[in-house]
Amino acid sequence: MKYPVRQPMIVTQGYSEKHPAVDLRNTDMKTHITYPHYAMENSVILKTGKGKTYGENYILLKGDSGLYYLYCHNVLMNELIVGYTVEEGDEVGIPDLSGLGNTGYHLHLEIFGDKYIRRNPLEIFNEFGLKWSYKDGKKKG
Ligand SMILES: [Zn+2]
Repeated sequence: MKYPVRQPMIVTQGYSEKHPAVDLRNTDMKTHITYPHYAMENSVILKTGKGKTYGENYILLKGDSGLYYLYCHNVLMNELIVGYTVEEGDEVGIPDLSGLGNTGYHLHLEIFGDKYIRRNPLEIFNEFGLKWSYKDGKKKG
């Protein structure tokens, strides 16, 4: 399992009912906006496009483990076509302007399990030993 953003990975918004996702970025993504997003595992590309509710670019991957990964605020690269596969660690996009809020450029990542049941991405990170911290540095995974 690989990190979805460049390390060290910072959580700018956590998982909640209102925000069933995590917002992630590298510690200095504010100034280095071209750091890519990465596939967390070997996956097939299920969908790409613009989200109706998000108003932002997205890519939906299904990993070999059965988990689904929805990357939002994600500018696609040309070679990312539905039905194609990506390998763990492959670049699946770069941050887009729609994610530029007061926390800076970020990846909005949603993870689903079997039958599209939502999972807390932070729990997935912990499960697979991926390190993260909140932007204030208070909590670590
Ligand atoms: Zn978000």
